Amino acid sequence: MTVETLVKGWCPGALRPMESGDGLLVRIRITGGILKAEHAQVIAASAMRYGIGLIDLSGRANIQIRGVSGSQWPHLIADLSRHGLLDDDAEAEAVRNVIASPLAGLDPSAWLDIRALVKTLEHRLVSDRTLHALPGKFGFLVDDGGQFSLGDQNADIAFEAIQEMGATHFLVRVGQDDIAGVIGVDRVCDTAAALAHAFIDASRASAKPYKRMVNWVAEWGADRILNSVDIETIAVKPRRSTGLLPFGYHCLGESGFLGLGAPFGRWSANGLAALADIAVTMGSGELRLTPWRAILIPGLRQADADAVIAKVGDAFIALSDDPRLQIIACAGKPSCRNATVNTHQDALGFATLKNLAKKSGTRLHVSGCEKGCARPTATEAVLVGRNGVYDLVLNGKASDRPIMTGLDEAMVRRTLEDMWAGEAK
Ligand code: SF4
Repeated sequence: MTVETLVKGWCPGALRPMESGDGLLVRIRITGGILKAEHAQVIAASAMRYGIGLIDLSGRANIQIRGVSGSQWPHLIADLSRHGLLDDDAEAEAVRNVIASPLAGLDPSAWLDIRALVKTLEHRLVSDRTLHALPGKFGFLVDDGGQFSLGDQNADIAFEAIQEMGATHFLVRVGQDDIAGVIGVDRVCDTAAALAHAFIDASRASAKPYKRMVNWVAEWGADRILNSVDIETIAVKPRRSTGLLPFGYHCLGESGFLGLGAPFGRWSANGLAALADIAVTMGSGELRLTPWRAILIPGLRQADADAVIAKVGDAFIALSDDPRLQIIACAGKPSCRNATVNTHQDALGFATLKNLAKKSGTRLHVSGCEKGCARPTATEAVLVGRNGVYDLVLNGKASDRPIMTGLDEAMVRRTLEDMWAGEAK
């Protein structure tokens, strides 16, 4: 197959890369986000050799090698495949869309170790070829109930471990709905498959095929969908969200882990290689990838983590209240052909905005265009690039109507600083 035959109309993978402004984007799905240090080294070396030395960590904890040329792509695929980092085919790769608690098996506060379960679920998705008809963005989630909840992550079918009367069960939800069913641990894979099959059937029977589970839930209701696969529903239970982020050093019993982020999820290949080195010399020899775009190095002692933090300085994010975490930015120029603004560079500048940190959470979305790829939901302030300057949307999405247009960087600063100063009075 040529790259040209592979790059139209799907969610990108490694075997079906996506063409972007700086070359092919090659996405690698790591089961459970558990990445051996030696594999991280392979990926970092491949990004330097075949790409432009840049790696994105996506909001679903996938690794994306940027800037691969069509001629280099087959060599990259051969290298990744040799190290067991790829699936047999593009369909298998696409359906393995599972977010899992990144500290699986390490977090003493979790209700169970979900590593084997996540592997089995992925295997089920791959081996049941009927499920390859799921839409490209259709995703699953498995939360072990540990301290870093996945409650802020979107999923079409989500499982969350709970404990009731001394036994561990899973809450199962569809399309982010609060209505949930309760199932035993041994029913997770069967339930995931049954719901996914039911979704495919319902979508085929619908006049307008569903893109995501939320579309089906809007028509049928979560109650009826869960009942249709023999799951009794219980009273509304809001999804658990601890709101904790895994940046910096955290204790896990006898040792701990260090969580580091790169601004807006964009890592240099050298940066990833450095983390892999630390994992080998000071940690347990593996990295954990998170949907919060942090990479965790487990098995570190506090003193070693402090030394690493001191050494990396500002290059990586090591604090949960780092203002760069309050801003989301898409790939922007030059990585995306649709962009006329350098979103990452501008967002770094906006991280020093006065009053940004007066409230916590994501406050600013810097989008290269009105597609708003980095954040499909509403944000307090959205800067949308157009012809090299920005339009400003308040409390909305990138595609919403702006309240101001044509703002250069100085005008953006003045507007947002004044607005946030006023709010704080
Ligand atoms: S929002 Fe626009 S500029 Fe940004 S990555 Fe998406 S398509 Fe490209």
